[in-house]
Amino acid sequence: MSSLAGTTAIVTGASRGIGAAAAAALAAAGARVGIIARDEAAATGTASAIGEATGLPTAARAADVAEPESLRVAITELAGQLGAPSILVNNAGAIDRSPAEELTEESWRRILDTNLGAAATAATTVLPLMRELGGGSIVNITSLSAHLGVRQAASYGASKTALLGLTRALALEWAPHRIRVNAVTPGYIDTTFTRPLVDGERAGPLLERIPLGRWGRPEDVAGAIVYLASPTSAYVTGQTIVVDGGFSVDG
Ligand code: NDP
Repeated sequence: MSSLAGTTAIVTGASRGIGAAAAAALAAAGARVGIIARDEAAATGTASAIGEATGLPTAARAADVAEPESLRVAITELAGQLGAPSILVNNAGAIDRSPAEELTEESWRRILDTNLGAAATAATTVLPLMRELGGGSIVNITSLSAHLGVRQAASYGASKTALLGLTRALALEWAPHRIRVNAVTPGYIDTTFTRPLVDGERAGPLLERIPLGRWGRPEDVAGAIVYLASPTSAYVTGQTIVVDGGFSVDG
């Protein structure tokens, strides 16, 4: 894995699941990682564990990414403590699995603010810091629902599809600043987020549709995130890497 020694990476939603695996993998590659999640104890615990495992400085801040001011403050404080970030992973996400006709306006706003608005807020917050560093890499975590229709995920799919649009637009606008913006699309990864699926009655049929024959692990997604964060992908921007065990290419 490429060395990220001397860099700072900020990962939202990194107290557990894909975000925690990404933070651990980025630190293993040498980055100082700053973690954001709502549960302060969980975020601090994950940051401390990564710090102990790598011997690198880590830090955590509690913030709800759906609240722009709280997110901006968290990023600014982490940057102050760990150094300006050249890596940002917009990973925190939320879903409302209600049928489309039952989604309330409040829920729509909440999902869009968490999955889309937060990524824009975080990206614009790190922009001046990355410009000063001479470049950076932003990785947005999308979903198969940005590529395929998924039932009972209308607002989620809409937000993740829009996140791909944001990824491409920022990739173009910020390329002159040497800031790359890419996305990673996880398939079905075994985390708290997918517990209702993995433990539910659809689990068997779903698993049969995954060509590689198993649920994804957070570490599977972390590898793609580290690649896009690292200089190994220096000529890659505006792209999406799908990490889904072959699910989306099986016609
Ligand atoms: P988990 O539920 O395992 O972890 C979610 C993390 O995000 C936690 O650290 C949680 O901490 C944090 N978080 C959630 N909401 C907020 C918020 N509003 N503000 C700050 N932090 C928040 O989920 P996954 O690891 O599975 O998912 C991570 C991302 O991957 C999401 O964007 C999801 O949409 C995407 N994804 C996941 C897939 C999967 O199969 N697991 C498939 C496709 C996409 P806390 O609750 O303390 O805030």
